[in-house]
Amino acid sequence: MPIDDAIVEQVRAAVQTDRLLDTAMRLIEVPSPTCSGAAVADRMAEILTDDGFTVERPEAGWPESPAVAVRFHAESSGRTIQFNGHLDTVHLPFVPPRVEEGVLYGSGSSDMKGGIAAMIEALRALRDSGTLPAGSVLLTAHDLHEAPWGDGSQVDRLIDAGFVGDGVLLPEYLCDRLPVIGRGLAVLSVKVSRRGEPVHEVLGGSEQPSVIRAGADIVLRFEKLDDELARKTHPLAGRESLFIGQIQAGEIFNQSPIVLELAGTRRWLPGTSADDARKQFHEILAEIAEQRGVEIEGDFRFVRDAYEISETDPLAEAFQDAYSAVDGQPLTVGAKPFVDDGNTFVHRGGIPAVTHGPNATGAHTVHEEVPVEELVRVANVYALTAIQYCGE
Ligand SMILES: [Zn+2]
Repeated sequence: MPIDDAIVEQVRAAVQTDRLLDTAMRLIEVPSPTCSGAAVADRMAEILTDDGFTVERPEAGWPESPAVAVRFHAESSGRTIQFNGHLDTVHLPFVPPRVEEGVLYGSGSSDMKGGIAAMIEALRALRDSGTLPAGSVLLTAHDLHEAPWGDGSQVDRLIDAGFVGDGVLLPEYLCDRLPVIGRGLAVLSVKVSRRGEPVHEVLGGSEQPSVIRAGADIVLRFEKLDDELARKTHPLAGRESLFIGQIQAGEIFNQSPIVLELAGTRRWLPGTSADDARKQFHEILAEIAEQRGVEIEGDFRFVRDAYEISETDPLAEAFQDAYSAVDGQPLTVGAKPFVDDGNTFVHRGGIPAVTHGPNATGAHTVHEEVPVEELVRVANVYALTAIQYCGE
């Protein structure tokens, strides 16, 4: 159902670019590498308190940096929409915030303090314009998102503690599609070792169990498995996979090494169990260890599970109405190429999640940038989605 033009106009008028930008700069200027998010969470709480909101600080399993939560209720009851973001940034040299010719730069401007500022501005716009017809908004922000430093557990604990809406929006830097499916991800690492010391090839080295030979077996077996996984496909999300991105062994050309290390990823579709994938990985390694007389330690580090939502879910429909009101047409439905906390909300919390953020670039680099007008657009889309979703 299209959103009334007058409502769209009221929201547009209530979103204040300067206020949004000031919030973004104040969040970016506080460095917050994953696991060190306390100061920026305090900053965000201060901004929201100064704005007149009542701020809760649930520890959510991470007392070093309690999460930030705000609830805003309309007069009558209805659905609760959640806006959720992560305040932590990847571990790279800090880049302070600056704005040049309408573009915001700095650590986290793309991923995702710019997006968090937009969701805060959406909340303010809803309050200031009085346009939320029913229901409520729950705004949450947390630490421990970025792998490999964070394990995603603070958002797990937030969900467990009931800090959830009926549907959730996440302002990650994805804006060219409405993601309704995403693959699960585990990071794989394997360490092959043999007993004894490194030794010259002609002084007994060639008689040692070869960690390199075992590594070659692993590569071939993983490739065979990857071929099998290629048959499990989804029209939007693509195929399951096992990918090897790193391998290393040996010090010099004529010495028998004692260690080989290998790392990669395993991605799976909804319907595949992460535990089964883990079991399969360990079985292959155990077999090769036995055959080659080496020790093999495998680590299947679960990151996020696969998820899927219906494109006719009320959240997806409300989002499309909001997106159309701002952009003139709905977004193409597609898959989410990366994993994020949306996977967790769907899988752990049973809550539909839509990832949508600014058209920003440079995530996970020192060259993050986002056009200010994109942040304003996201604030409008979030506020209008709330109006459409909560008021139904
Ligand atoms: Zn992010």
